[in-house]
Amino acid sequence: MNIDFHYYAVKTIALASGFSEEDAQTIATFSEYVDDYNPGDVGRYNTIPQEIIDKQNSKLILTEEEKREYITAKLMREYNAKHGTYKMPSKQKVDKYFEENGSIVPNFRRISTGFSLSECAKEFCQKTSVAPFHFIAHDSEAANTKEGRFTKPAIIGDDSLISKYLENAKKEYLSSNSTTKKRALMHIGMLLHIFADTYAHAEFSGFNEDCNIAEVSDVKYTKDGSEVPTTDKYIVDYIMQQSGVYGVTKRISAAGHQMVGHLPDYPGVSFTFKFEKPERLVERNNTLIFTEVSMRIFDFLYDIRHEKEGKDSNAAIAQIRQVGAKDTYKYDETNLESIPEGRRNFVKKLITAFSSTPISTFEESWLVTKVVKSVWGKIFGGSDKSPITILKEIWAQVLNIPAESYQYDPSDVFALDDKNIKDENFYYYNSYAEDILMGLYPEDYIQ
Ligand SMILES: [Zn+2]
Repeated sequence: MNIDFHYYAVKTIALASGFSEEDAQTIATFSEYVDDYNPGDVGRYNTIPQEIIDKQNSKLILTEEEKREYITAKLMREYNAKHGTYKMPSKQKVDKYFEENGSIVPNFRRISTGFSLSECAKEFCQKTSVAPFHFIAHDSEAANTKEGRFTKPAIIGDDSLISKYLENAKKEYLSSNSTTKKRALMHIGMLLHIFADTYAHAEFSGFNEDCNIAEVSDVKYTKDGSEVPTTDKYIVDYIMQQSGVYGVTKRISAAGHQMVGHLPDYPGVSFTFKFEKPERLVERNNTLIFTEVSMRIFDFLYDIRHEKEGKDSNAAIAQIRQVGAKDTYKYDETNLESIPEGRRNFVKKLITAFSSTPISTFEESWLVTKVVKSVWGKIFGGSDKSPITILKEIWAQVLNIPAESYQYDPSDVFALDDKNIKDENFYYYNSYAEDILMGLYPEDYIQ
C-alpha cells in the first residue's frame, strides 16, 4: 500500500474511532513512516535510553569473529571514503560494533523498515526490510520455509505474529501514561502498516522467488467498471518489468510484487492476477479489500481507545462500531444494506474515497505524470492538482473536516542527522522494528 492508505485512510479511521487529532496524527504518521525510514549511512548516537541499550546489547547472536567483521567493514568504508578504491561493504554490515579500548562494543542497531528498489534486489534487504515490514509471513515457522513465507491477510485475534504484536501494543497503550502514550501509539501505527500490507500484498512474498511471478489482466476502475487506459501510470511500472528486459528482471527482482508494478497497492482498481507457481487466477477488487482492512483497523482502534478512556459521548462514533450479525467485513452491494445504518454510511464513504483515488498518488511522480499526460492525453480526468491535494480533498470529505488536517512530512518525524536525538521515540521505533525481526527469525537472536 501507499501513502493514500497508510497515512490518509489510517488518520481518517483513527479520528473516526474517537482518537484525538494529536493521537490520530501519531498513529497515521508512523503507519506511513515504515515506508520512509531507511537510514542510509552509519551513525552513532549519544542519547540512547539505557533500557534500549540493555535490550539490544545481549540480543544478536554473533561470534567474536563476526563482530570483528563488522568493525572491518566500517574501517573499509572509512578507507573507501578517503581513497575511493575498494569495493564498499553493504551498509547493513557497517557500524553494528566498534572497538573501544581494545574491546568490542555493540552500537545502536538501526532497522531499515523502508527500502529502495535497488536495495530490495539484495537478499539481506529482503530478509530484514521487505519481508518483515511489508510482506510478513504468518509466523516464524512460515517465515523460515520457502513454501510458507508468502503473505496472507491477517485478522486481529488469529494466531498470526502480527496479530500477537498488535495485542501486545494494545496492552502497552492501555497501561501507558502521559509520557509513554505517544510511544505506544507510534508502536500501534507501525504495526498497522504491516497489518494493512498483508491485505494488499496477499499471495506475494518479500523474497526473490517463483511464487511472485505473476501477470495482470483485466485492470478496471472500481468506480465505474471502465477499463484502465494503458497510458496510465501503472502501465509505466508494468512495462518496465515486462518489456525487453523481462527475462533479466524476472530473474533478479521477483521480490515482492515487482513483477506487477504497483498495481496491488492502488485502492481504486480491480484486476486479475495470473500466477505461475502454482498456476492459478486470483481476482482482486482493491477498493473492497482496502475497505475490509479499514474496518478491521477501525474496530481495533475503537475498542482500545474506549477500553482506555471509557465510553464516548459521541453517538455517531459508537454507531460506526455497531456490527450487525452479518458483518463479515466483505462489503459489496449485496450485503451492504444488511449492516446497521451508521456503520453502513461510513463503509460507503470509505468505498467512495478508495474508488476515487487516482492511480498515481506519489508526489514525486507527479511531474513525470504531468509530462506523460501532455504526451498521452488525460490521466487524472483532466485535473491539474497534485496527487497530495487530491488525497487531502478525498479524505477530508469522509469526516467533513478541513483538508489541512492531513499533513505528513517524513523529515519532520526525527532529525536523523543529529547524533543527540532529542526524541527518545527514535530509539524505540528501531527497537520495536527489531522486535519483528526477533519474532520472525528467532535463530538470529538470543531470546
Ligand atoms: Zn509497506
